[in-house]
Amino acid sequence: MFKKILVANRGEIALRIQRACRELGIKAVMVYSEADREAKYVKLAEEAVCIGPAPSGQSYLSMPAIISAAEVTDAEAIHPGYGFLSENADFAERVEQSGFQFIGPTPESIRIMGDKVSAKQAMIKAGVPCVPGSEGELPDDPTQIKRIAKSVGYPVIIKAAGGGGGRGMRVVHTEAALVNAVQMTKAEAGAAFNNPAVYMEKFLENPRHVEIQILADKHRNAVYLGERDCSMQRRHQKIIEEAPAPGIPRKLIDKVGERCVAACKKIGYRGAGTFEFLYQDGEFYFIEMNTRVQVEHPVTEMITGVDIVKTQIMVAAGERLPFTQKDIQIRGHAIECRINAEDPYKFTPSPGRITMWHAPGGPGVRVDSHVYTNYFVPPNYDSMVGKLIVHGDTREQAMARMRTALAETLVEGISTNIPLHRELMADAKFMAGGTNIHYLEEWMRHHKR
Ligand code: ADP
Repeated sequence: MFKKILVANRGEIALRIQRACRELGIKAVMVYSEADREAKYVKLAEEAVCIGPAPSGQSYLSMPAIISAAEVTDAEAIHPGYGFLSENADFAERVEQSGFQFIGPTPESIRIMGDKVSAKQAMIKAGVPCVPGSEGELPDDPTQIKRIAKSVGYPVIIKAAGGGGGRGMRVVHTEAALVNAVQMTKAEAGAAFNNPAVYMEKFLENPRHVEIQILADKHRNAVYLGERDCSMQRRHQKIIEEAPAPGIPRKLIDKVGERCVAACKKIGYRGAGTFEFLYQDGEFYFIEMNTRVQVEHPVTEMITGVDIVKTQIMVAAGERLPFTQKDIQIRGHAIECRINAEDPYKFTPSPGRITMWHAPGGPGVRVDSHVYTNYFVPPNYDSMVGKLIVHGDTREQAMARMRTALAETLVEGISTNIPLHRELMADAKFMAGGTNIHYLEEWMRHHKR
């Protein structure tokens, strides 16, 4: 096992990884920008290195700064967390070339999955169900583009191969709008992702977002840890996640989970990963794979009892997965609310000093957050200040616990989206379960203020 790991991230996930290291008896080196100097996980760290000024381009996204921090502290491995450099194949490569273990898949796996066209081709080969669409990148010839759209059937969605974060997509309803839309998406993709390649998919009108968590080791063992429903989104940003996904037969999940595991074995995948699907009319359609730990990993930890972050570290060190598929039992129901420093209805960011932070507690309640009373939320980064996670024997019990937890939570000095979460936890349709990816935005249109 490693003796020392460098945590190349900030905020709640930096703290989460630090906690996992402590449990494993590993020293965690924390890095921080000048804006995060006061963070508690930095103060509580055995070792911490300032890697630059507040803008992430000069700190959390600076490969030389992070690699030299690992060099001066003699770390053996680097955990990238999520966001920042976590899905950057060049970074993973530089980490390994510098003699450190990257806690994640190989640079090659990251590269294949980072290009949505090659990811989809790999999935089709491995027998994972995909959204019907173009076979690979779209050609330039307008006649051919029209022919492909006709065979896929309108509406279609044009997506950038290098896209991410919900950007680089355009829905097309008619042939008249098609060629122009393809050209515009191409131009945007070239500018934003340095890769003008686009592809086409059937646009699913009312899907849910359901994803499968997998863990794999370096010895070709892999398991799936059930699914998560992340359909409550605004502008493709998830705000509530839960596991299991309400109303989807376990048999169907198992079938897709087994395909994901087979795909992992086929591509030699290692570490934690998530296969994201759209789910509509009883069918799963792969859209992309995330080659890192996800924000919403705790709901899976709550229902399986598996510590995903600890397992990531263990398999990176070369250990075998300490469980097989039949050891994975799903117990009860878990829900996560992302707490963002923002106006609950206008969504404008609300950084600043938290004058009062009171976290909830009680049975089945977990709070993953790096903030505390008097913490200053810097304006430079993502607005998420923490995650509230609850577990119950049933979905109803989990919802009741979340309502209590939200009622107990007190945050003063900044605005948060807690009032929105309180309303959603009392919404009849969400309570019934199975709302689709458009539900939250429709709900907001009907609850204008
Ligand atoms: P990103 O990497 O930018 O998150 P994804 O491929 O994961 O891109 O898609 C993001 C979101 O866009 C999905 O969660 C879904 O809301 C929507 N979307 C993507 N593809 C389709 C599709 N074929 N039909 C309907 N909606 C889609």
